[in-house]
Amino acid sequence: MDWMDAPVQAPAGQTPVVPAQQTVDGTALAAAVVDRLLQVAASPRFKDETVPEALRGVKNFEQLLTVIWATRKMAMALSKGDMDYYTPEKGIIVGALKTLQSNLKHLTWQTQRIAGGDYSHKVSFLGEFSEAFNYMATQLAQRISLLKSTSEEYKNMSFRDALTGIYNRKAFMHFAEEVFTTLKPLASTLIMADIDKFKNFNDDYGHLCGDEVLKLFAGYLSRALRPGDICSRYGGEEFLMLLPGMPLSVGLSIGERLRAGVEKLRMQFAGKELRITSSFGICETGTMPDGARFDEFICSCIGRADENLYKAKEGGRNRVVG
Ligand code: GH3
Ligand code: MG
Ligand code: MG
Repeated sequence: MDWMDAPVQAPAGQTPVVPAQQTVDGTALAAAVVDRLLQVAASPRFKDETVPEALRGVKNFEQLLTVIWATRKMAMALSKGDMDYYTPEKGIIVGALKTLQSNLKHLTWQTQRIAGGDYSHKVSFLGEFSEAFNYMATQLAQRISLLKSTSEEYKNMSFRDALTGIYNRKAFMHFAEEVFTTLKPLASTLIMADIDKFKNFNDDYGHLCGDEVLKLFAGYLSRALRPGDICSRYGGEEFLMLLPGMPLSVGLSIGERLRAGVEKLRMQFAGKELRITSSFGICETGTMPDGARFDEFICSCIGRADENLYKAKEGGRNRVVG
């Protein structure tokens, strides 16, 4: 029997105050219950979780109130972005909010992964937002990959000589610095090569011919060296090569091999067969002394190779001096 239907009992030995047939005012009680529920469900400032004295015996009222309070607190926590709020309560609404909470937590983790460069994450629980999020991730992935290849392309371009396609002076300095500061081989050979009487090609056949000679010479030198060697156009018709780990004795024979190889090159231009000779100034770099500045160190090495190149020119050209 429900307490509302129960007759009001008088304490033993006393006359009942209320007649036995009289029941509690159902409408007033229902109004009090609704009022309390509205306060809990609707008023943001309402904080009192206790059940009022008058409603204490209403069947399941306390349980309903607990569920509404839990739902209310969970919803408030989510609306403020508190992803760690926990309630032991169950039920369809709290359950749905918990699912939303865990999806948002997963979304936070996915966003962090995307920020870290992993663009493979896809969202599937938030309708239109999922589509927008997934589109953003795909676009980011595409743009980053485009950016990477473009910057790689620019780096490549800034390291290449536009005419011959081999490394330029900037690239030489970059890679040579790596050799002397990271690899630190005990001995290395530096070779400065210069085309003999190159000006004559320009003067006799025009600059286009001079350019073709430069391309032929550069292509030959770069193919003749090992992959770990650095072959660059230093400027004009001068080429600078660094052979890491190569002692001078071997470097000199490589210089001689290069000189002899260039001498054998043939180039057809304007119906004529042209030949090239070149001179080589070689020096041994040694290791870079501790505390030395790379730019000063490499300048002094280049200066020594250049002095030997000058001697090769003075000595009659088409020769190697080291
Ligand atoms: P040497 O045997 O003493 O080295 O004589 P050379 O004629 O080779 O040397 P010189 O320094 O007198 O001339 C180099 C010329 O190279 C001068 C310059 O106009 C030309 N030159 C520099 N860069 C280029 C280029 O990119 N293309 C062409 N066609 N000529 C160039
Ligand atoms: Mg020259
Ligand atoms: Mg020169």
